[in-house]
Amino acid sequence: MIKLMELHDENSFKIRSYQTAVNILERGEDINVIGKSIAELQQISGIGKSIAEVIFALENEGSHTSLGELLEKTPTGILEVLEVKGLGPKKVKILWQEMGITSTHELLEACQSGQVAKAKGFGEKTQESIIQALAFKASNSGKWLYADVEDQVLDLVNTIKRLEGVGQIDFVGEFARKMEIVEVIELLIAAEDRVLVIKSLEAIEAINRDVKRSSPYKWRGSFSSIDLQLVIHFTQKKDFINEKLLRIGSKAHLIYPAKENQTLASILSKEKYDSEEAAYQALGLPRIPEELREGFFEFEWASEGGEKLLEEDDLKGILHNHSTYSDGKHTLRQMAEHCKSLGYEYLGISDHSRTASYAGGLDIEKVQKQQREIDELNKELAPFKIFKGIESDILTDGSLDYPEDVLASFDFIVSSIHSALSMDRKRATARLLKAIENPYTTILGHPTGRLLLRREGYPVDHKVIIDACATHNVAIEINANPWRLDLDWRWVHYALKQGVKLSVNPDAHAMEGYADMRYGVLVGRKGGLTSAMTLNAMNLQEIEQYFEKQKAKSKK
Ligand SMILES: [Zn+2]
Ligand SMILES: [Zn+2]
Repeated sequence: MIKLMELHDENSFKIRSYQTAVNILERGEDINVIGKSIAELQQISGIGKSIAEVIFALENEGSHTSLGELLEKTPTGILEVLEVKGLGPKKVKILWQEMGITSTHELLEACQSGQVAKAKGFGEKTQESIIQALAFKASNSGKWLYADVEDQVLDLVNTIKRLEGVGQIDFVGEFARKMEIVEVIELLIAAEDRVLVIKSLEAIEAINRDVKRSSPYKWRGSFSSIDLQLVIHFTQKKDFINEKLLRIGSKAHLIYPAKENQTLASILSKEKYDSEEAAYQALGLPRIPEELREGFFEFEWASEGGEKLLEEDDLKGILHNHSTYSDGKHTLRQMAEHCKSLGYEYLGISDHSRTASYAGGLDIEKVQKQQREIDELNKELAPFKIFKGIESDILTDGSLDYPEDVLASFDFIVSSIHSALSMDRKRATARLLKAIENPYTTILGHPTGRLLLRREGYPVDHKVIIDACATHNVAIEINANPWRLDLDWRWVHYALKQGVKLSVNPDAHAMEGYADMRYGVLVGRKGGLTSAMTLNAMNLQEIEQYFEKQKAKSKK
């Protein structure tokens, strides 16, 4: 609404009061009040009657007349233009009213013909970044984060399972391999009468069949509510395991010469198996978990005996979390008590450091106050322990964000880049290297700063970074937020081979954020991560010693 109000030149005081209301609500303290009643909303300082009415209507009815009016006078395509990275309402207004652009398609054409660069306030550089943003957006349409579609996909399978005639059913394809981004959900169903099953699939509202692209052997279509493709393969019970193996493994996995030039594909073409174990056994290997079947390093892993991969239960503590001291939603106490109640042995609090003023970064006094509170809570919650940490910004020159005596007061430090993200590979790598070499760095946070489907990370030389972490005994984070999943799993195996420990960190900004650890474990497993190489799989005593040793390193 705020963007639309700006676009349509509404009263600037009104816009500002809406922005204030958003800021208040984003702090999260009053989050429970939003849908309750207009009167309660109005009690929040900074929220007046008319805004309270709007918030209440948006929450309970999904819209409000004033939003409807704004939408009515805005071409639909403009809404998409407003979403383009780097374009605020002021710029969109110029594009629309002075250049007649009302869609991202027209915007791209105008950029390509050089018209946009000539418009007031734009220039070549802005034009180029719009082209890039549009290209990034186009390449990502129809793609989804695994975490965002997981529930819908599981619901669907549960519905299909109950249909008459459905025997075995399982995931195949990229969803079965737990890819962090999915484009097509694939299911395999064993059915003696597939015509019957296809007919009963029609009754499921959550999916739409694309009749033209379907056949009697393959159901093709999509989910109704989101732009996500769905393919359902049919087979018979006796072929189920073979079909499943063929449809889960990537091509590289299927054609890998695992044993005397035999491949999984070749043995599957000769014989039918009744279990996945039996098929891999024929190649002289233990069963390879689905998520490893990328043709990457899994045959090496399997021929070495197939070391057990990390599981969520192996994690003993949660490092890298925020509280209300910086931009978190819950207090230190709430974060700690919840962590403890989930059965973990310790919590690492790492609020933002002082340079991150946009995220309420802690000045030195606040650091001291937080550390005193941690001491008190630790007495109360023992044997559970809160470790004193910080997520220190890595400044543009690669240094950390506090003087040495403050850095020395932490048990551990997550060092991350949050600002000046447009760097070339050389600069980004050098900046990270300096932070890794800093003896106070315990964990390198989200190494590329990427946001999946939203923003590419800055380019870094992964090998150089990982090698340096090995030399300086710095762990690397697998940021488990589904938008990040950074370090990318494709580099986890290399890190492990260099002896670098990984830390599965939720980067939780609220208690619910702890649940994201699950996605960090999934991608860690894709990279071959084991419990022994996971920093936060250490128990309390082990990690206490680990941090102590790290601190001794900085005193040298
Ligand atoms: Zn961060
Ligand atoms: Zn963080």
